[in-house]
Amino acid sequence: GFKCGIVGLPNVGKSTIFNAITSAGAESANYPFCTIEPNVGIVAVPDKRLDALAEIVNPQRVLPTTMEFVDIAGLVKGASKGEGLGNQFLGHIRQVDAIANIIRCFEDDNVVHVDGSVDPLRDIDVIQTELNLADLESVEKRKTRIQKLAKSGDKASQAELVALEALEQCLNDGQPARVAALSDEQRAMVQDLHLITIKPVLYVANVAEDDLAGEHPHVQKVRDYAAEQGAEVVIICGKIESEIAELDPEEKSDFLQEMGLDQSGLDQMIQAGYRLLGLITYFTAGVKEVRAWTVPENALAPQAAGVIHTDFEKGFIRAEVIAYDDFIAAKGEAGAKEKGLLRVEGKEYLVKDGDVMHFRFNV
Ligand code: GDP
Repeated sequence: GFKCGIVGLPNVGKSTIFNAITSAGAESANYPFCTIEPNVGIVAVPDKRLDALAEIVNPQRVLPTTMEFVDIAGLVKGASKGEGLGNQFLGHIRQVDAIANIIRCFEDDNVVHVDGSVDPLRDIDVIQTELNLADLESVEKRKTRIQKLAKSGDKASQAELVALEALEQCLNDGQPARVAALSDEQRAMVQDLHLITIKPVLYVANVAEDDLAGEHPHVQKVRDYAAEQGAEVVIICGKIESEIAELDPEEKSDFLQEMGLDQSGLDQMIQAGYRLLGLITYFTAGVKEVRAWTVPENALAPQAAGVIHTDFEKGFIRAEVIAYDDFIAAKGEAGAKEKGLLRVEGKEYLVKDGDVMHFRFNV
């Protein structure tokens, strides 16, 4: 599966947000939710397109697609040197594919801050420093290991050494590995290092209840910082989310409407995490079931078929595809067909977000 890790300093609201995510998933039997391990939750990816498709098709059931969040505890100053839960923390964060950094932006005298005051940029800096140090150690270890080989003329080791030196310089400059100027080939060479700062990130500003508009100076600082990195920011209030998580779907939409919100912060965070993982959604729309499925960006049609069943991939013949907007505009498959909007695509077809697909295959 594709996992998004939730990290942050102690007392910033990680558990509150993680618990809201997992209990939100449990609210409806239709939402396949479970906790695999205490700190891993499978959540439904909210997608309004599913409701629109269901309205046209009238299926027996509607199934959203899912993604995984991992609550990763133990990020403290010194974690890269094994302080606190350091080694365990590093082990867990290496296993996720993307990272949501929870940044405390709410003031609350009853909730102590490990450094005595709320200061988002200082916190971001602590996180960045720890993760950089951990990566630097991985890079240096590898360098030491291959230096001899490179000197003795081994071409692969020489090429890798060039990539490692670029990474080392980037990390020493206080920059995450993700911004290092590496070619795709070089990236592949260092993939098995499982660098932490090479993973895509998202900043989640945990704000006070009356700051949801996101205009507080604390939030502004996070926005500016994230913008420099080309990273996304989601505004959330952990406290409100834990209240929303207790509501049933109808109460939830009433509550959001009263707050003047289109979507909960949590839903935004899940969608942002999904994008961060480089995932797109295609749909199947039959009378039995309207369902969302996940594929990585750049997936070809047979791979998409394989998400449903390996036999669909093995025996793939063709895919019948209607773009989501066409499906809605034509009020369903029959209408789309009439208008010539149903395309027949082969093995080389690059799946697009929102495609409504039907696979033909040999058994
Ligand atoms: P963690 O250590 O990062 O997992 O933080 P927790 O989720 O355990 O939260 C630490 C404390 O902050 C708890 O007492 C929460 O109730 C409180 N908290 C979390 N989110 C918010 C929020 O949005 N506003 C306020 N005022 N308190 C919050």
